[in-house]
Amino acid sequence: MSKTVTITGWCDGTHDVRTLSVVERTVWVDSSRPVVVDLCEDHDAVVRDLLALMKNGTPVAQGKQQQATDRPLDCPLCDYVAPSRAALGGHSKGQHNMTVRELDAARRVST
Ligand SMILES: [Zn+2]
Ligand SMILES: [Zn+2]
Repeated sequence: MSKTVTITGWCDGTHDVRTLSVVERTVWVDSSRPVVVDLCEDHDAVVRDLLALMKNGTPVAQGKQQQATDRPLDCPLCDYVAPSRAALGGHSKGQHNMTVRELDAARRVST
């Protein structure tokens, strides 16, 4: 008795009818987790496009915008606007003999 074992790969993409896969592709879902998917020709093209897009895209810088909005850089006691938080500290110390915290407190009172 002998039997033939055929290993059939089906496409992991969404199909109404099961479609044979032609390629096996390793995709990195995040930077460290590779996932092997079987794909038909159509889906392979889609994945290829996606991978190309991911490679060409720019990573989103996180937190930058928030820092700019919740840490004010203007002096509530005069018209000075500091280029950075450190510069505001230097200004408040030199001009008003206050720390940045005291300056923030003064801002809260004045508004
Ligand atoms: Zn497919
Ligand atoms: Zn000032």
